[in-house]
Amino acid sequence: MVEEVLLAEPRGFCAGVEMAIKALAWMVRIFEPPVYCYHEIVHNRLVVDRFRHLGVVFVEDVDAVPPGVPLMLSAHGSAPEVVAAARAKGRFVVNAVCPLVTKVHHEAKVRAQKGYTVLYVGHAGHDEAVGTLAVAPEQMRLVEHEADLESALADVADPDRVALLAQTTLALHDWEGIMNGARARFPELWTATRDDLCFATTNRQAALRVVSARSDAVVVIGSANSSNTVALAKVAADAGCERVVRVDGPDELDLDALGDPRVVGVTAGASAPEDLVQAVVEKLNPTRGVEPVFVTDETEYFPPPRELRDLLPALEALASLTVGGSPSGTGRSLADDRSADASRALADLRG
Ligand code: SF4
Repeated sequence: MVEEVLLAEPRGFCAGVEMAIKALAWMVRIFEPPVYCYHEIVHNRLVVDRFRHLGVVFVEDVDAVPPGVPLMLSAHGSAPEVVAAARAKGRFVVNAVCPLVTKVHHEAKVRAQKGYTVLYVGHAGHDEAVGTLAVAPEQMRLVEHEADLESALADVADPDRVALLAQTTLALHDWEGIMNGARARFPELWTATRDDLCFATTNRQAALRVVSARSDAVVVIGSANSSNTVALAKVAADAGCERVVRVDGPDELDLDALGDPRVVGVTAGASAPEDLVQAVVEKLNPTRGVEPVFVTDETEYFPPPRELRDLLPALEALASLTVGGSPSGTGRSLADDRSADASRALADLRG
């Protein structure tokens, strides 16, 4: 029987995911279906299924999107040629790339222009990695594991011009091992001042490290294709917790697989909704209740993508003139975006 749940704070939706989900919710309200989305808007099965249910069509190729229709590009960032192809043929394109992914794209572009060989630590085939590597394909080399360093460094033209960038959602421990290996070989190695792991990744891992040290078992909520979720499971295992399970939601949680824990730590990846967390805690049913384990506050806010910021004031003005309301029909206005939250936007859409 579980006596206590330790709930990591922060957990769940990050500012980038909040922005992307709210932006797609706006598009669903504004446009007649179907609204198209290139790649999963975020890597969470439940979020994607909710949007699919509302008529959003997810595609892996922008050529599959008809001309003249609304199209969103996912939070993970898209290759420059994909963005250009999306904007062709009169489509209304909203690019929901997280600003922190854009920052890494910018670093890749600048280093490549300066003649650097750019090592990119990331997961092969992950949407974010694919989009970033496409910024400077000639000069970028993917490094997934420390063992890949040798081959990635084999054809470095100038040892004084080697840079190391990273996917934003890696486990800190993995990234540091590769960075130390590369720096030992190239002392002049260029890296971003505060590395590329985003604040949300770092904060969720820090909170989970504290939780893991006090837990007999840890449950990480999030989808298998979510890089930061998988990284969280690794962080808990690296912190010495012997039973770590990742689940999409309460239905997948097998209580027997946790052994017979007295204390269970719970966290959620950056794309997992809070209602799943609460449902998992309910299933664990701790006899002595839930203790939040707070590490830091997150106050970051990313405004809606520029294309929506440009469009919505005009639609709001038109709606107030014609029907006396907002384009959403719920009274929510773009000016309210900061105070709105994505979980609520998803719930409103369900209704
Ligand atoms: S995990 Fe970090 S990089 Fe990814 S969307 Fe969230 S804030 Fe942006």
